Amino acid sequence: MSILVTGGAGYIGSHTCLELLNAGYKVVVVDNLNNSKVESLSRIKEITGKELSFYKVELLDKNEVERVFAENKIEAVVHFAGLKAVGESVRIPLYYYYNNIAGTLILCEIMNKFGIHKMVFSSSAAVYGEPQSVPISENVPLGPANPYGRTKLMIEEILQDLYISSPNWSIALLRYFNPIGAHPSGKIGEDPSGIPNNLMPYITQVAAGKLKELHIFGNDYPTSDGTGVRDYIHVVDIAKGHLKAVEKILTQTGVGAYNLGTGKGYSVLEMVNAFDRATGEKIPYKMVAPRPGDVASCYADPTKAIEELDWIAEKGMEEMCLDAWRWQKNNPNGNGD
Ligand code: NAD
Ligand code: UDP
Repeated sequence: MSILVTGGAGYIGSHTCLELLNAGYKVVVVDNLNNSKVESLSRIKEITGKELSFYKVELLDKNEVERVFAENKIEAVVHFAGLKAVGESVRIPLYYYYNNIAGTLILCEIMNKFGIHKMVFSSSAAVYGEPQSVPISENVPLGPANPYGRTKLMIEEILQDLYISSPNWSIALLRYFNPIGAHPSGKIGEDPSGIPNNLMPYITQVAAGKLKELHIFGNDYPTSDGTGVRDYIHVVDIAKGHLKAVEKILTQTGVGAYNLGTGKGYSVLEMVNAFDRATGEKIPYKMVAPRPGDVASCYADPTKAIEELDWIAEKGMEEMCLDAWRWQKNNPNGNGD
């Protein structure tokens, strides 16, 4: 029996495939390589010494997805495949709604057809939107602030309806906060195309001399130093959260949402200083206007995942910075090297 990982060639998917293989699972990856390269899968084999199956398949192509299920004995699905750039989702919302939602509908339909009812879904802290207070627990009202976040909320609702319609479904909705860092081997990591939108890859590219300086979006937020606060979490901790979620869905039915965060917030300036302390690299920066749509402060209450998944984030900020920097230095052109 295998675990099917959609989007398994991507950033979080590749780290999760590695943890699944190390835990003894067989892995089948489906990815259209829209935002990733097959090289990440070769690297996983290099690190683990284990094989996985790969299908370059578009999730929107029902016949192709069906072929993957027909050719493999799938026990459960970890569903990462989706588009994730918030700004792009505002500019081209139909592309986001279609890819993320229709892709999930096709996947669920085929799972149903093959009698497979176990799924771990990549949701996001984006389902919360502007939080009323922090830390954020799973049961607060949801209100995503952009089309990307709305695709995640809509998919969560679709999956909840599936469980109501047929209680043999077992679904974990994992709401990630801000995954950063890379595998400590320096062989797999985040490979953004073009200029990074996210803070950590921007910082590592400034440190590498690829970008001139960091632009800090806003210094007048109601936070300790005026810059935005987020819950940064090591991608390996996120991957291990999937392992725990897989164990849960394999043994129990039901549907549950879980925050995967550390519970600690860091401001942008604190991140710049942490990176300098960990790596010795000074990051030149300048303050610029806030980025539209950004919230002041967002960090998790991870108690539910700790109690119900028996999972806790173990890696601290120094490790996150060191691992992100090792990946950048070893792979100046990401997986293209
Ligand atoms: P990623 O872009 O690196 O990985 C997603 C993978 O899905 C890519 O390899 C892409 O090629 C593939 N894909 C996209 N649409 C597809 C389709 N229609 N058919 C087949 N493959 C398709 O992104 P990531 O950072 O690894 O994120 C994984 C998931 O986690 C996404 O669903 C994302 O929305 C969610 N998430 C990410 C973050 C983050 O900060 N990275 C935070 C919260 C949630
Ligand atoms: N940020 C920044 N400059 C950048 C990228 C991000 O100041 O070039 C800030 C952003 O305003 C937010 C934090 O860093 O306060 C994290 O942003 P990211 O895009 O990584 O995550 P998200 O906003 O999706 O939580």
